Amino acid sequence: MTSSPFAQGVPEQGTTETVPVTAGRRTAYLVALVVLPVLTLAVAVPAVWGWGIGPRDAVIAVVMYLISIFGIAVGYHRHFTHRAFKCRRPLRIALMVAGGLALEGPVTLWTAEHRRHHKYADRPGDPHSPWRYGDSGLALLRGMAHAHVGWFYTARRRSNRRHWVPDLLADPDVRRFDAAYPAVAALSFLLPAAVGGLWAMSWTGMWTAVFWGGLVRYAVVHHVTWSVNSIAHTFGQRPFRTRDRSSNVRWVALLTLGEGWHNWHHVDPACARHGVLKGQPDPSARLIRWFERAGWAYGVRWPDPDRLTARRVDTEPGAATAPGPGEGS
Ligand SMILES: [Zn+2]
Ligand SMILES: [Zn+2]
Repeated sequence: MTSSPFAQGVPEQGTTETVPVTAGRRTAYLVALVVLPVLTLAVAVPAVWGWGIGPRDAVIAVVMYLISIFGIAVGYHRHFTHRAFKCRRPLRIALMVAGGLALEGPVTLWTAEHRRHHKYADRPGDPHSPWRYGDSGLALLRGMAHAHVGWFYTARRRSNRRHWVPDLLADPDVRRFDAAYPAVAALSFLLPAAVGGLWAMSWTGMWTAVFWGGLVRYAVVHHVTWSVNSIAHTFGQRPFRTRDRSSNVRWVALLTLGEGWHNWHHVDPACARHGVLKGQPDPSARLIRWFERAGWAYGVRWPDPDRLTARRVDTEPGAATAPGPGEGS
């Protein structure tokens, strides 16, 4: 942990909220975040149809998927962005690397954009609100495309890291990780390659693992993550009062290991559990609970039952029952 005066994740005064993005960087975003994943998925569909996916590649892809999504949900999002829990240094580094394997950018960049999203959620200034162009049919469709992937390329300005994440920039481990990000991105493909090649003891085994556990996995992880920004700000239930249109979408929550319970998250962003109502499994909260029991995580901010009841839209008796820290998932 750091002794920075900004250790609480408070924006640094006197810095601008956004900085311009160069055309070269926008093109890189277009290729890595928009075009390549779509092309990969387009190739994956006939590949499944024609040859299927073998059990070896399926196992590698699923394990890589779980590491990536937990890395984003527990690491990038709940720990680094919202400080929902503190953790020991080895776990902090492991979570940072796991999140990096999702290929959604260095942790400082991801966190800066997401902190700005929470400050302006669904209002001018939000980097990715689906309501940006209005709420009538076509305008909403356009807004959803913008919130899903469009903003990566169209945004002429991105969140200024010096403003939003001074706490992370003050941490030498985070700075080292950012500098080594190209190596982490390479690891995202080298890892499945090594496991696939050694498991099959063949070059073919290596290449099919790179395709399924590397390329297809990263494309799916991306679209699953971006669904929180597009779907879980548009459709679904809103059992809690918020100033924005964050919502709960069950299938998004299942695929994101808890992140799709997005409505409560906007009420209490620093809460370690997002699925706070009965029947809302939150595997990411469960994992944090395991880390806490193991003594690796501490200072975990579990839901406050009084706050849950106070922010419920309906007040049916028993409806707001919150699971305890380790229950409900
Ligand atoms: Zn949101
Ligand atoms: Zn958040």
